[in-house]
This record gives sequence, C-alpha cells and structure tokens, in this order.
Amino acid sequence: MNYLNLFQYIISTPIYPHYYCASVQEIPFQKLKQIGVKCLLFDRDNTLTRHLETKTVYEDLLSKLKKDFNQVLLVSNSKINEPTQLGLSVARTTTKKPFNFQEIYKNYIDSNTKSHEICVIGDRLFTDMVLAHKNGLIGILVKPIDISNEESSIRTMRTIENFIMRNNQLQKHPYHGFLNF
Ligand SMILES: [Mg+2]
Repeated sequence: MNYLNLFQYIISTPIYPHYYCASVQEIPFQKLKQIGVKCLLFDRDNTLTRHLETKTVYEDLLSKLKKDFNQVLLVSNSKINEPTQLGLSVARTTTKKPFNFQEIYKNYIDSNTKSHEICVIGDRLFTDMVLAHKNGLIGILVKPIDISNEESSIRTMRTIENFIMRNNQLQKHPYHGFLNF
C-alpha cells in the first residue's frame, strides 16, 4: 500500500482519539474496566518505551494491568521485532497498523471479546487511532515519550498529525477526548 492509498484509507474515517492523556500513567484504567473493556492493545515506540528501545518505565503498571484485564497485548509497527522485555504477549502480524486488526483478532484475541471491549493505546493518529476507529475499538492517544531520534518519515507524518490535532476540539481540553469519564 502506497502513501496515496494510505491517505485515502485514513481520510475516510474519523481519526481523533476517544480519549487523550499526557502519558500511559494518566490513563483511567479502572474506568476503562468499568465500561467493560477486557483487552488492551498497546503500541510500543513512544508509548511504552523510547523509540526503538525495549525497556519501559511502566513495568509495575503493566504488571498490574495484566491482572486487571483479560488480555494485554503489544501491537507494534517497530523495526525491532524481538521478544519484548515488557512482559507482554506480542501480537505478530504480516501487515502493519492500521491494517492488521483482522489478523490480531483472529490469532490473539479471545473470541468472546467484542470489538467495543478492546482499547488501543498509542501515540499516533494514522496508525493507532485509525486502527481503533476502523474496527470499532476505543482509541486512547498519549503524548510521545521522546521524538528526537525518530526517522524523517515518521516526523513527516507527525507534522500532519499534529496539524490535525491542533485543529480539532481536543485543543480546548488537552487531556480529554470524546469519552467522558
Ligand atoms: Mg508509537
């Protein structure tokens, strides 16, 4: 799929997050549980770790989440494809976000889990949030941890994403999207 197809795919769906937090730590996980979320799909680079690194500062939080939710999976488009040091199961797919939900669902998610009971947590609109919207999942956007060593292709996409974010109503409520907890 080339960039033109990607854009056509993306502009045909809303891509704003349902909820927006400064970091993973600030996500109201207990409230997600209360509204019936059973499965968390975490992005890695700049959500749980720095770009292309494998260690996280959220180790304790992830251990707790694994007890609180039925499934906590890592779904990453990163070049690094080694087993995670995060203690999470990795959903490996032949395609990348935002196109790989059918594969993820078929191979990794409990069959009794409905799409609206799945929450995607990531730092990118065009991958993480589009994945959520295209498949009826909840999407939570976090601020990237550190973008200083990202490749130019990612930076270019971020420029567009930042423009979109600056021009929607989340700007007025920087830490709250459309989910009202
Ligand atoms: Mg990321």
